[in-house]
Amino acid sequence: MLHLGQGRSLIPHHGGVDDYAAFDRLAGTVYLAARAGAVDCTAAFDLAAAKLEVSPLDPDATELALLSLECVEASQPRMAEVALRLLATAWDPGFTEEPGWLVSLEDAMRLVNRDVTATGIRHPCQLRARDDQAGRRGNAYVETWDGYNSATAGIYPADGADPVSALVAVADDAQGALMEQLWAVWPVCPVHHLGVHARHHNEAAVWWCAGDEGHPVAAIGEWPGEGH
Ligand SMILES: [Zn+2]
Repeated sequence: MLHLGQGRSLIPHHGGVDDYAAFDRLAGTVYLAARAGAVDCTAAFDLAAAKLEVSPLDPDATELALLSLECVEASQPRMAEVALRLLATAWDPGFTEEPGWLVSLEDAMRLVNRDVTATGIRHPCQLRARDDQAGRRGNAYVETWDGYNSATAGIYPADGADPVSALVAVADDAQGALMEQLWAVWPVCPVHHLGVHARHHNEAAVWWCAGDEGHPVAAIGEWPGEGH
């Protein structure tokens, strides 16, 4: 999984917030164009140059720079391929480029809210997406009815790329927000009375209790309780 900060490897050392924002816009532009199979030669060259500034021997950046200088129609598919490969190691798409990831996180929020209800809490939580602040990629986060959030960076857009990651990330953030709201551990294993944690288990998203040898209490979204 790609995570926070990888894009910074491509920011020039003298770079400040404005450079980061400019790089983010450039990367987003090239990403969307490359996905559509038609990369703008100037934008592709700028991206390659940013990479070469920090990694002068990078083969993808070298090839992309040469292709974008030639700028011939027949090279477009290859430019798109190389640009996407370069971006994959250097930059994380956000909800602007991948709106489906936000939809997937919203679906996960609905499932997690079933567990909120099943544990006797009367109010659902909300998923919110932070505005992009001064060049920082906007993450999503869970908010309670009184406006409490977890004390973390929130949910990375790429966590929405698959349903299991989405459930684990939203459940984890909801747990943090609810514990701030309730000032109590949530949720609690009914057998061991221990706080449980969201995690991957056998390709599913579960609430995991550390009691005994460790066991899944329930699939996330299927907490036993009212209505089950
Ligand atoms: Zn347990």
